[in-house]
Amino acid sequence: GATIGIIGGGQLGRMLAMAAARFGYTIAVLDPSKDCPAAQVATTLIVGPYDDEPTLRCLFEMSDVVTYEFENVPVEPVRAVIGDTPLHPPAEALEVSQDRVVEKAFLNGIGVATAEWRAIDTADELGHALLDLGGDCILKTRRFGYDGKGQARINAETTFTDAFEEIGRAPAILEKKVPFAFELSVIAARGQSGEIVAYDPAENVHTLGILKTSTVPGQITAEIAERAKAMASQILTHLNYVGVIGVEFFVGKDGTLVVNEIAPRVHNSGHWTEAACLCSQFEQHIRAIAGLPLAPTDRHFACVMENLIGDDVAQFDALVAEPAAVLHLYGKAEARRGRKMGHVTRVKARTSGI
Ligand code: ATP
Ligand code: MG
Ligand code: MG
Repeated sequence: GATIGIIGGGQLGRMLAMAAARFGYTIAVLDPSKDCPAAQVATTLIVGPYDDEPTLRCLFEMSDVVTYEFENVPVEPVRAVIGDTPLHPPAEALEVSQDRVVEKAFLNGIGVATAEWRAIDTADELGHALLDLGGDCILKTRRFGYDGKGQARINAETTFTDAFEEIGRAPAILEKKVPFAFELSVIAARGQSGEIVAYDPAENVHTLGILKTSTVPGQITAEIAERAKAMASQILTHLNYVGVIGVEFFVGKDGTLVVNEIAPRVHNSGHWTEAACLCSQFEQHIRAIAGLPLAPTDRHFACVMENLIGDDVAQFDALVAEPAAVLHLYGKAEARRGRKMGHVTRVKARTSGI
């Protein structure tokens, strides 16, 4: 049988591996830790750094197709070892999503609205950009930010030095704060012959920068859903993309859609698909990268996915006893503060009117 290679063995890599295993594939995972969540599912675990060419070559040589679970895969070493083994999604999707300035320039270039932004390298540039954009802004690191890390809110009282210190490093990007009514995300997939499917958008709530819940349909109207799906589809086509993508949006009071960021991978806000759809985002991604037909994205329940962060996982006994809840834990030993340990999706029949 064919072998699917996965760069990254966190919970997303683990859930991709589980979906691949259900289709009978052999799974090779590359991760720096022998105890990573995907280790329990992988056929072969290659323990090593992501940026080491010999290690990456080993993964590519044993795989028929390679994918990844995170957007910070080093592009140069991967490009050097690709050879005859396809990488899905393509390296261009990594380049665009690794750097918030490149990402916003790409999105604006294809006519997709984002927050107003300026690239920032010095305190001087920050001063000018703040005057230019006006109002409340957020300074973010261009690269390696996640779960709201590497961000500083800026108002009249913030000194520029403080702001730079808070985010830790330049280069940075200054974004004008978008006065959104709520946030949503679209999980969409593009297959090898260019066909595109999209799941219903989820309404997302973050606490302390970390995704807490994804609710479908939440307060998302059919009209907003269609526009959001169309924008996700446009992004997939322009990237000549293969696989699943997560697109995060801000929704204005008047329904205006602004893209926050894109994630070239399966996405936390799509975990509900395993409980409410016949084909989860994980299976959909495996289908796309393996050249199988994409599956329908019909949703059979209204649902709320809740992340189990840190100690939340101690409620295991109560969660597993809930009749309308689909529980999924990642097999992480230590329930550290802020660490994603699992998630639970509570479903309601569509007729019940939530
Ligand atoms: P993730 O874990 O989703 O990758 P991240 O660290 O890349 O998160 P962002 O998605 O850029 O961070 O921002 C985290 C959250 O902060 C957003 O979901 C949103 O709630 C808020 N936020 C970020 N940028 C803006 C903005 N320009 N205007 C208003 N709110 C924002
Ligand atoms: Mg992000
Ligand atoms: Mg985000």
